[in-house]
Amino acid sequence: MNRRTSYDRPGRCIFCGDGAAELTKEHILPKAIDGDMVIPKATCDICQKNVGKMEDRIHRRQLLGPRSYLGLKGHGSFRDKRKRFPLKVETVDGEGSVLVDREDHPAMLLFPRYSIPSWFEGIEEKPAFTSAPAVTTRFFNVDYDLLWRKYGILRPVVGQCLFDDWNRYLAKIAHCIAVAGFGVDGFVPLLHERILDERPLTRSLQHFVGCSPNPPPVEKGMHFIRVCELERAGVRYFYVDIQLFSLFDMPLYAVLTGLAPGTPVPAWARSLD
Ligand SMILES: [Zn+2]
Repeated sequence: MNRRTSYDRPGRCIFCGDGAAELTKEHILPKAIDGDMVIPKATCDICQKNVGKMEDRIHRRQLLGPRSYLGLKGHGSFRDKRKRFPLKVETVDGEGSVLVDREDHPAMLLFPRYSIPSWFEGIEEKPAFTSAPAVTTRFFNVDYDLLWRKYGILRPVVGQCLFDDWNRYLAKIAHCIAVAGFGVDGFVPLLHERILDERPLTRSLQHFVGCSPNPPPVEKGMHFIRVCELERAGVRYFYVDIQLFSLFDMPLYAVLTGLAPGTPVPAWARSLD
């Protein structure tokens, strides 16, 4: 990962383009997962709230266990001081939720595993919507014996993945690293409006986020980001390879972020639906 931690001021909101609003700094990788790269004066208040709500859901729900288990810091407001957390489990009575002490709580990483995105293979039209993808899971801190003796738990149940939020989460990271690297005017952005799209079950990001066909990084850190270029049918695409929790071999995503300056946006990438 690039060791630079601060980048140029974009001069306007990197999501909505508002140049008159007061702007606050934007973490490229959220602080809640130990991101330290910052774009100063990058986000207006309205966009910050919108994006913050989505990130908050990911950090408090999908990533709460692993963040706590791995000791990732984060904003004070995100810190969870509860001594016991609910855990979805299977008991002799069936499936249910049981309160488990913090130190006994298993942590789980649960990320969707997508196919290689169609734009990578040169398909110039939007493919059909596909159903819920497979997931990659990693459990940490599971002591089956203790869970059975202390709580009567047979096994933890694999949770649900917040697919829409997860796609927006990856898109936000990809958009930010592109802004940091190219500058706001250095590329034709494709994701900024989609990141702000709060409609539930939105499919607007589906075709932009996939799993990368590139090899994963050899040196494993906690997270991995790499800006890449691809030329297909005369169009220069910028995309970002992102592997969060790289250390645990989680999926390597490829997120289509934008096009080379002056490139017309292909028809399939125009509509927000
Ligand atoms: Zn804005």
